[in-house]
Amino acid sequence: MTSPEELLKRHKAVMPGWISLYYDEPMEISHGEGFKVWDSEGNEYLDFFGGIVTTISGHNIPEIVEAVREQAGKVMHSSTLYLIENQVKLAEKLIELSPISGDQKVFFVSSGSEANEAALLFATQHRRSSEVLAMRGSYHGGSFGTMGITGQSTWRPTSRSALDVTYAMPPHHSYSSLYGRYEKDDPEFAKACADDLRNLIRTATTGHVAALIAEPVQGVGGFIELPPEYIRGVKEVLDETGILYISDEVQTAFGRTGSHFWGIEESGIEPDMITLAKGLGNGLAIGAVVGRAEIVDSMSGKLHLATFGGNHISTAGALANLNYILDNDLQKNADEVGGYLKDRLVNMAKESPLVGEVRGRGLMLALEMVGPDGEPNPAAAVRFLQACRERGVLVGKGGIGANAVRISPPLTITREAAEEAARAFEEALA
Ligand code: PMP
Repeated sequence: MTSPEELLKRHKAVMPGWISLYYDEPMEISHGEGFKVWDSEGNEYLDFFGGIVTTISGHNIPEIVEAVREQAGKVMHSSTLYLIENQVKLAEKLIELSPISGDQKVFFVSSGSEANEAALLFATQHRRSSEVLAMRGSYHGGSFGTMGITGQSTWRPTSRSALDVTYAMPPHHSYSSLYGRYEKDDPEFAKACADDLRNLIRTATTGHVAALIAEPVQGVGGFIELPPEYIRGVKEVLDETGILYISDEVQTAFGRTGSHFWGIEESGIEPDMITLAKGLGNGLAIGAVVGRAEIVDSMSGKLHLATFGGNHISTAGALANLNYILDNDLQKNADEVGGYLKDRLVNMAKESPLVGEVRGRGLMLALEMVGPDGEPNPAAAVRFLQACRERGVLVGKGGIGANAVRISPPLTITREAAEEAARAFEEALA
C-alpha cells in the first residue's frame, strides 16, 4: 500500500498546485459504510461532510450499489441517441416530486455546473436576453458561464462573464460584513431588500432580464439561508417583469434542509426551474435541470446534448438513491437529528467567543468562527477541522471569509452518532 505521504508527493508532482487538500497530514479515504468512512491507514471517522454535501444516503448502501453493479454488467454507455428506460423513470420521478406545477421537462447532465449552465441557457433562449441576476455570496459552479455569475471573487479567477450579470444583496444577520444585516423576525427588512432589487433592475439592467438564480441556502458561501420572506419578495418583483426564477438546489434538495424536500419550499414560492446534482447520485456523476416545459423546450430547433447526460449507470444509481431517500423518510430524520444537533451546537457556542454564529437547517449546519471583534477567523476554522479529525469526525469548511465550519452528514445519521460528533465538536472547540 502506498502511504499517504508518498501519495501526496506523487499527487503534487502531477496535479495542479492550486488543488487544496484538507489537513496538513494528508489522508486517503479507502472505504465507507453508511455515515462512517475509513482512511487507508485504518482510522475510522464519522463523515460529517459527506463528500462535499453529496453522499446523502451514505456510503456503500446495498440497494444503490446493487443497482449500479447490475447496470454495469448489462451496458455502461449507449448515449443520448437511444432510449434509456431508467432515464425516463428518473425524469418522471423528479417531475412527480418537483416543487414546480404544470407540464415539466428534465434535462440530464453530469454535474452541478452543467445543470446551472443548461438552466441559464434555457432561460436566455426563452427570454431572448443574456442578462442574469445572481446573489452576492453565491456559488454556482466552475464552468465559464457559472463561474462568471458566482458571487464570490475567490471562485472567479476571471472577472469576465459569459452573461451580463448584476448582483443582488440578500439580507442576512450574520457576522459577514458583506451582507445587509437582517434582524431575525424582521420581515420589514427583508421586504426592503426585495424593494431594493426592484430598484436594481430599474437602474442597473436594461429591464429585460432572463432570470434570477439563487441557492435557497448558500452552500459554499457558508450555509447562509436566504430569509423566506426575502425570497417571497424577490419572486413578487420578478413576476412584475416576467424574469424567471432558477432555484439552485444542488446542495439543498432531497430533504437536506430537514423541513422540506426542496430548499425553496420553505419560502412557499414556485420557481421556474430547479437545478440538481450532488445528492441526486449519492456520489455518482449526475446533474439535472427540472423546469417548466415551455422554458426547457425553448431550445427546439437548436441542437444541444451532454454525452454522459442521464447515462445508464448514473440514472440506475440515482433512481435507487431517490427510492432509498423516500422509503426511509430521510427528510424527517434530517429534521429530527439536525434539530437536535443544532441545539447542541447553539449551547456549545454560548460557552465560546470563537463561535460568532450557529446557523442552518436540517443537516446543513454551520459555525461561523470569529476573532475578538467578530471578524472572520479562518485560522480557527482550520484548527477546528484538524481537532475534529483527531477526534474521529470529518467536517467541511466554507464561507466568504473561509471561516465557516460546514456540517452536513448523510441524512441517515443517527441521534447517537450526532451525540458522539457533538462531544467531539465541544472538545475540539475547547
Ligand atoms: N451549485 C451549487 C449550489 C454548488 O454547491 C455546487 C458545487 N459546490 C455547484 C453548483 C457546482 O456543482 P459541480 O461541482 O458538481 O459542478
